[in-house]
Amino acid sequence: MLHYPDIRLKQVSVPVSSFDQALREFLCDLEDTMRASPGCVGLAAPQVNYFQRIVIVDVSGKPGIAHNGRMLLVNPEMVSREGEAVGREGCLSVPDYTGNVARAERICVRAQDGNGEWREYRCEGYEARAVLHEIDHLDGLLFLDRLVSKRELFRRKAYRT
Ligand SMILES: [Zn+2]
Repeated sequence: MLHYPDIRLKQVSVPVSSFDQALREFLCDLEDTMRASPGCVGLAAPQVNYFQRIVIVDVSGKPGIAHNGRMLLVNPEMVSREGEAVGREGCLSVPDYTGNVARAERICVRAQDGNGEWREYRCEGYEARAVLHEIDHLDGLLFLDRLVSKRELFRRKAYRT
């Protein structure tokens, strides 16, 4: 896992061009890494030092919110975005802080799956926030780059054991 301020987190990732066994194995590894972190709702390939446009999001473990289940998004593209809401974000690559970020409330995103098939997803609220956060990683952006103000950054308490 790469951690801020590692300069590699600012790298822009390249599109996936071959949908082969190596890709599918990487997708499994990425999901395992996400599942190994309690409370983690998303992960982007560059966080694990792999600079291709791949993210995984799964907010289904959070109670009472709309979700699409596990989303493996390869070469994701924004189709539309609506509204704006401010909410708290954290990131495995920024373990000591959380911060408030403004994101679209509703989005439509299209992406390929592990076989290269295109699919469209509609997301809202917390899930939309998670998808937008992860796609930012593909463009070298962290939530720290999008804070609504410098004062909206909070040190985590008792995060480390
Ligand atoms: Zn993150």
